[in-house]
Amino acid sequence: MASIALIPGDGIGPDIVREAVRVLSAVGEIFSRKFEFTETLAGGAAIDKTGEPLPRETLEVCLGSDAALLGAVGGPKWDTLPGKLRPEQALLGLRSGLGVFANLRPARMFPQLSAACPLRDCGSGLDILIVRELTGGIYFGDRGRSADGLSAWDTEKYSAPEIDRILKIGFESARRRHKKLCLVDKANILETSRLWRERAEALRGGYPDVALSYMYVDNAAMQLVRAPSQFDVIVTGNMFGDILSDEASQITGSIGMLASASLGAGGPGLFEPIHGTAPDIAGKDIANPLATILSAAMLLRYSLSMDREADAVENAVNAVLDAGWRTADIAGGDLESLKQQGRLAGTRQMGSLVIEALRSA
Ligand code: NAD
Repeated sequence: MASIALIPGDGIGPDIVREAVRVLSAVGEIFSRKFEFTETLAGGAAIDKTGEPLPRETLEVCLGSDAALLGAVGGPKWDTLPGKLRPEQALLGLRSGLGVFANLRPARMFPQLSAACPLRDCGSGLDILIVRELTGGIYFGDRGRSADGLSAWDTEKYSAPEIDRILKIGFESARRRHKKLCLVDKANILETSRLWRERAEALRGGYPDVALSYMYVDNAAMQLVRAPSQFDVIVTGNMFGDILSDEASQITGSIGMLASASLGAGGPGLFEPIHGTAPDIAGKDIANPLATILSAAMLLRYSLSMDREADAVENAVNAVLDAGWRTADIAGGDLESLKQQGRLAGTRQMGSLVIEALRSA
């Protein structure tokens, strides 16, 4: 039996997590798997109930589970609270409490939605995975100000073990996909980048089936826009990954479709859509649940090693899009004609369509 902690959070969070749970339950029935769900509080919902964004009990439930599925946290109601009490603190607390050091962000453009891509030529098969180091580098290095306040510094620092563990996730992810790994860095300038390259050279012998390449980050930012389909898996440090993963996700043009996973060393992984709580559409049954459903597919693959089940969920999403179904955010300005064709789905209906597609596969 697999235990899954659920953290619906705020805004559209509860609605989209509910649909992902229905999909997981259907997977359980179809593949004879047993999932046990424990719902727990974080973000604004937790502040309202307990006064803190991440109650100790929430972290304990997550630590005692095989994986955690999160909706999103935050909203205008809590925007005026002081920094330490804000809903976003729950995200930082969950990441550090679960010890997740690798953030996996697939930027996948479904061919059915290529009209949403802002680039002139998107090709038909954009499918990149960005593996970002999450707990080291310049965001966590020594920082400070001079006594007169007129100079400041932030330090980029990485150790070989920190680099090795994220590179291994990069190599292993590439092995599961198209077997191409590109290390993005600034090795022409930064000493830390040169250490990343040395470690990659030391590890590559263990992955003879994976083609390893290197690219400077400025070039990578350009290549992502110029010819994104050249990439399979990109592995990179914290700050470069932060920027490149947002850039890559924008190329797909569909924020409601993008999933993510944060993984540690063997403990429970944290799975969540990349979008926020969308307060503008909360409670209206129009939010797109597919990013959360695809995050649940990542949960099956990366935390539970259920590749077959994960493939089934992804194929079901594909089948629903193939049949012409869209939520409003991915309708591409075609709302009226979609309505006329009866192909405009709400949150709940989209969940049901994915379940139907799963059952009829
Ligand atoms: P957002 O992602 O919530 O919304 C941006 C736009 O995308 C909005 O127009 C929204 O309606 C739309 N959108 C987002 N997800 C959608 C979905 N599933 N279906 C249809 N449309 C969708 O970003 P924001 O407006 O900058 O932030 C809103 C709140 O969410 C803030 O409080 C912010 O702090 C929080 N937030 C949380 C997370 C997280 O929990 N990981 C991430 C980002 C933002």
